[in-house]
Amino acid sequence: MSPRLYSLTIDRERCKGCELCVDVCPRTVLALSPKLNSRGQHYAFVTNPASCIGCAQCSDMCPDAAIEIDEEESAHA
Ligand code: SF4
Ligand code: SF4
Repeated sequence: MSPRLYSLTIDRERCKGCELCVDVCPRTVLALSPKLNSRGQHYAFVTNPASCIGCAQCSDMCPDAAIEIDEEESAHA
């Protein structure tokens, strides 16, 4: 069985820090950064990438389409 890995890209400049993605993620993959983007918003970032199951609830929830999810094949174990 080859586990699937998911690569998340969050456009921090689009993010308005609403935290919807952080709240909806069932695996606590996302968090809000203590840092600010150029709009003065705390942006979401990936804090726990290995736990992502690729469910896409975060990208579906984001009102600003700031999250992209790519699926990657893992290397052979
Ligand atoms: S795809 Fe699912 S598990 Fe991965 S960060 Fe988004 S909500 Fe969390
Ligand atoms: S849902 Fe979108 S805008 Fe809101 S914190 Fe997450 S990435 Fe940022």
